[in-house]
Amino acid sequence: FCGGGMQLGLFLSGNSHVFCALSNKAEYDYFQYHPMEEVREPAGWLRWRRNTPITGRLIGLKTDAKKKAIWMDCGIHAREWIAPAFCQYFVRQILQTYKTDTKMEAMMTNMDFYITPVLNVDGYIFSWTNSSTRLWRKNRSPGPSGDCYGTDLNRNFDANWGTVGVSSDCNSNIYPGRGPISEPEAQAVTYFVGSRKEDFLCFLTIHSYGQLLLIPFGHPDFTASNYDELMKVGEGAAEAIWKVHGKKYRVGTSPAVLYANSGSSRDWARMQDIPLTFTFELRDNGTYGFELPQEEIQPTCEEAYSGALHIITYAHDKTFNGATATAAAAVWTTLCSKLHTFLVPSVFSSFMTDFVLKA
Ligand SMILES: [Zn+2]
Repeated sequence: FCGGGMQLGLFLSGNSHVFCALSNKAEYDYFQYHPMEEVREPAGWLRWRRNTPITGRLIGLKTDAKKKAIWMDCGIHAREWIAPAFCQYFVRQILQTYKTDTKMEAMMTNMDFYITPVLNVDGYIFSWTNSSTRLWRKNRSPGPSGDCYGTDLNRNFDANWGTVGVSSDCNSNIYPGRGPISEPEAQAVTYFVGSRKEDFLCFLTIHSYGQLLLIPFGHPDFTASNYDELMKVGEGAAEAIWKVHGKKYRVGTSPAVLYANSGSSRDWARMQDIPLTFTFELRDNGTYGFELPQEEIQPTCEEAYSGALHIITYAHDKTFNGATATAAAAVWTTLCSKLHTFLVPSVFSSFMTDFVLKA
């Protein structure tokens, strides 16, 4: 019913209209950087656009069982262009993988994936303006005096806000804002994730650069109650990353391997009792820094995918461990796919829909 082609998808809008992919659209190049208007239409799939500044993609397999969830956001810092590239790659990979990989199928049955490719939309657009704005980091909200712009969104969350690793000068790149969650982007995540925090097993926030996997907390006086588990899972992810292209990622808290900070989304998420919260700092180690060459997009995405999957798989197996929800859902999926084999191959039971973080 969606016509032939290799990139079939089923999209549900908020009012339940079904949108189908066009099979003759040009292939999206995942290994180039894309400006905001192209990110909004991944793979040229969506023929419509919501008039909203922040949207994410909700992906999963349909089941009547209660599901858990995974959070991933990219592009909270405008200049870290490899991050949005990774989120888009991640979406494509899981949508391709589950069709042939029973482990991914089980994970998408038990868990929904909430993926926000560009969290700091205004900043990202600004960083594309010209070479003088390329290294913009913050959002674009006016400061208190009106002659400076931008709050560091990763200092704006309600997690020891304003205590360490910040500057009260609003021209600074680490200006934390007028108060905790003063910024609409931080509010959007806080309210969206906060309203269903018991569902989320993982909170992964993707940055560059430095090749690090950071665990809570950014404030040196506090230690996560599951510090040992976070370190163990992080070391496993770093090993998974290393196996792909031999890149070394270091694991630890911000103060231990980078610098102390406060008000990060990762710390906030852990304080909401989301157990597995990590900051990814992707390639490189400073040779190109934020301006990572396009040739490195593919290998960076491939290795980071492997690392993210290690964490997500751990979270899944710890929670479900072959539980009945998996079995029941698998039966449903099997029945469904058998029933529709001749109508719509494989993708029928998957869904991808936009969710709105900030209207
Ligand atoms: Zn960053």
